[in-house]
Amino acid sequence: MLVLLLGPAGKAFGEDGKIRILTSIPPLYCWAVNVAGDLATVENLLPADVGPHDYQFKPKDLKRLQNADLIVLNGLGLEDWFTRAIQANAAEAERKVIHIADGLAETDLIFHLPTLELDPSHSIQEGHDHGPRTQDPGPGTGHRHEHDQANPHLWQDPRLAMHGVTNILLALQRIDPAHAADYQRNATAYLSRLAALDAEIRQAVAGFSSHTVVTYHDAFPYFCRRYGIELAGVIEQVPGSDPSPRYLAELLKVIRARKVKVIFTEPQFNPRLAKRLADDLGIAVAELDVLETGALSPDSYEDGLRRNLRVLQQYLK
Ligand SMILES: [Zn+2]
Repeated sequence: MLVLLLGPAGKAFGEDGKIRILTSIPPLYCWAVNVAGDLATVENLLPADVGPHDYQFKPKDLKRLQNADLIVLNGLGLEDWFTRAIQANAAEAERKVIHIADGLAETDLIFHLPTLELDPSHSIQEGHDHGPRTQDPGPGTGHRHEHDQANPHLWQDPRLAMHGVTNILLALQRIDPAHAADYQRNATAYLSRLAALDAEIRQAVAGFSSHTVVTYHDAFPYFCRRYGIELAGVIEQVPGSDPSPRYLAELLKVIRARKVKVIFTEPQFNPRLAKRLADDLGIAVAELDVLETGALSPDSYEDGLRRNLRVLQQYLK
């Protein structure tokens, strides 16, 4: 068990006087950098090539947690390794941890797995790396079981990203009230960029001829819901573990019936299985970036969504 030694509340920030922010994944890094501007140093906990599905908390990470003034996590089970690692000092850690998901309404969240509706008797109830879930009786019913875990991939929806940016803004204003107006000004500028990005994607998707996709893992339901794209299925329901032959046979039927034109792979997964499926079906394979890994820059969140939009345009136009 790791022991997290946190300094007393109200201590000075880092040696340079700047707030030290630690984030878990690249989109959160971008949002924090844009809200904090020059007033903070932002560091991302995960290495550029390791996604939150695979991450193992390292003893050296403990030092980075101790040094941070604010820790920005996604929540919804994405960083269970973090929660487990700090269990011994959870109450202390809570003081400096915020979650992007905090304050979202239950209706903002998505609980169901993509359904294979051709055969409703084929119930899919395997878990997901992010946490246990069970199958919803169908999209849009709003029903869920008590212990269901919502899908964590909030950042794929720029409108939910704006909620996350606002959570970061409020946290920075709370711990550094002297600069509240600066954070507000930075956040307002960034929020208007995200609103423009949302409008740009909406307008582009409205012109597509096809609105049905299959993705590699269940990372795009928020994006699809926001822009009216139908997610017909995913290849790996449990990231990192191969689907059963029976599941794949069902998925092939769905892809044919829905006339899906392309299967989307993701950078952190081996595209071999998707390529084989696409070859069998005579359809295309292309890559969408979940943004769980990759380079860190203030613009990389917006750049990533625009890159994905260009891929979608190419295959669904
Ligand atoms: Zn994921």
